[in-house]
Amino acid sequence: MILPGAVQVPTGKGSPYRVNVPYRWVVHSIECPPDISQAALVSAARNHQYPPHFWVSMPNRVIVQTVDTNLAAQALEHRSGTVETNHARAIQVEVAGFAKDMHTYPDEWFEWLRDALLMPVAGFHQINLTNCPEFKRYPESYGANGVRFADADWLDFDGLCGHEHVPGNDHGDPGLLPVHLFVPPPIGDDDLTPEQDKMLREVYRQLTGNDSPSSKPPRPLRDAVGGDGKSSLWQRLGAVAKKVGA
Ligand SMILES: [Zn+2]
Repeated sequence: MILPGAVQVPTGKGSPYRVNVPYRWVVHSIECPPDISQAALVSAARNHQYPPHFWVSMPNRVIVQTVDTNLAAQALEHRSGTVETNHARAIQVEVAGFAKDMHTYPDEWFEWLRDALLMPVAGFHQINLTNCPEFKRYPESYGANGVRFADADWLDFDGLCGHEHVPGNDHGDPGLLPVHLFVPPPIGDDDLTPEQDKMLREVYRQLTGNDSPSSKPPRPLRDAVGGDGKSSLWQRLGAVAKKVGA
């Protein structure tokens, strides 16, 4: 998908995924100050040799997209003869900040990250944001850290992990993420902000090829999870994704 609201910097570096496994989120840290400017983030994204799909500054609320999530990105190491990494449907984001400081950043930053990026992509690709392995503080997260996946567990994984969990890699980023904040909150139709409504509509259009005709959230999204209207955007998108076989 192309994320609504993201600054698009296409690199032409995406390539088809190679294994039929669940999609999963992989989070990296850039190792730069969290409040890097949009111009600097765009420049880093444009010039990077092995880009992920997304780059973000949480305090500045900027998202840059360099690769369509329907294609594989390149920010993970993969030696020939070892288990697939980038090509195992790993959707990747580089978060501005330092791995050693990740656990000290404000909750609001991560809640914004959840709403603006993690949740819409999770809905589109049916990623389970409540499924996260144990994260460790950097530098304990480096190398053989006790939390890195075995090959088979990595291929089965359908949730959100970090570079520190990917087999065949030794990086310890992004350090300790507050993953409890990534659980999508329930939300009713009337609680949608105009921003969320717009995002929902655009993701729906990319999933189904149809525009939503009404001023309300698209009907299939309202109906997807039954009567009470109190489910998360993520659950609604996931239900529609399932229906259209995305
Ligand atoms: Zn990394």
